[in-house]
Amino acid sequence: MSRFLIEKFSDIKPYTPGEQPVGYEYIKLNTNESPFPPSPLALNAINKDKIEGLRLYSDIEASKTTKAIANYYNVDVDNIIVTNGSDEVLAFIFMAFADEHTYIACPNISYGFYPVFAKIFDKQYLSIPLKSDLSLDIDAFCGLNHTIVIANPNAPTGLMISLEDIKRIATSNANNIVVIDEAYIDFGGESAVQLTKTLGNLIITQTFSKSRSLAGARLGFAIANSDIIADLRKIKFSFNPYNVNSMTDELGGIAMSDTKYFNTTRQMIIDNRQYLTAELRKLNFVVLDSMANFVFAKSNNITAECYCAKLKEKGILIRHFNTPLIYNYVRISIGTIEDMLTLINATKAILKEINI
Ligand SMILES: *Cc1c(COP(=O)(O)O)cnc(C)c1O
Repeated sequence: MSRFLIEKFSDIKPYTPGEQPVGYEYIKLNTNESPFPPSPLALNAINKDKIEGLRLYSDIEASKTTKAIANYYNVDVDNIIVTNGSDEVLAFIFMAFADEHTYIACPNISYGFYPVFAKIFDKQYLSIPLKSDLSLDIDAFCGLNHTIVIANPNAPTGLMISLEDIKRIATSNANNIVVIDEAYIDFGGESAVQLTKTLGNLIITQTFSKSRSLAGARLGFAIANSDIIADLRKIKFSFNPYNVNSMTDELGGIAMSDTKYFNTTRQMIIDNRQYLTAELRKLNFVVLDSMANFVFAKSNNITAECYCAKLKEKGILIRHFNTPLIYNYVRISIGTIEDMLTLINATKAILKEINI
């Protein structure tokens, strides 16, 4: 740290991303990326013209992506803001809403970025404990009168709440913003986007990083009523108007429109998740019923730390968190069926090594 950094940032603990090794020597099941490439239609879209077009600033409306989202979800373009990853729109939301009298309330086990954003934007943060089975305590979020941010499905548990629960939380906090972060909604869950048409305080955020295979392109969005979107656009235009580059906008439009490829690849993730869940249970793991592109699991025979280290020796990266309540769980991203077979075989070998 230099002597110039201002005081309030000196004790920030930044978000810790999963390891991103340079090169492809590992089977990467640690950051919930897609194991599949983006839609093949994207390959033809990025050509010499598009690269030459980079001399111009990008479209401030990210129109290609915005129109494709409007079409997919049957909402108006005024109900959408497109951003540089969904982390950026979450940052805008944390900046824009919750004044000094209110808190931002999140589950105590959830996406690691929420408390970091709260800190950097000077917001008071309220951590609401999950129930002992790691499910969300819906009642604890009702009538809070604070800004609420919930990942649904939650990360890293993969557990979901229902549209009814979301409705209850939003209507009982009608004077505050309720954000549902749907980064993992495409793996079997039902989106709450349609509820934004009747609930004026609800914001849905989504990302192209998981189900649409564009983590490196950095693309996300929020859907809400047009007044809320206008507020978020005000922040965007006061911060970084050209936040989405033109090639990413092009790719986003394609990824959102190619529903055939999208449906095929997400179904493969769902099938592989079912396979992995069943196989891990056979090996005496406790596995939560995930609705995401990862599973959250705990072995009855080996600590998470030891299991991760041994898998890494065998060329497979998974993730565990140094958080008390979930210390012995690992999060394993769903890969191709070959990845899942390799992981299961490696796990069997590890259990044998330690005489289980
Ligand atoms: C991955 C993820 C995001 C954001 O991803 P971006 O790559 O910034 O779009 C947001 N929320 C949750 C819960 C995530 O897991």
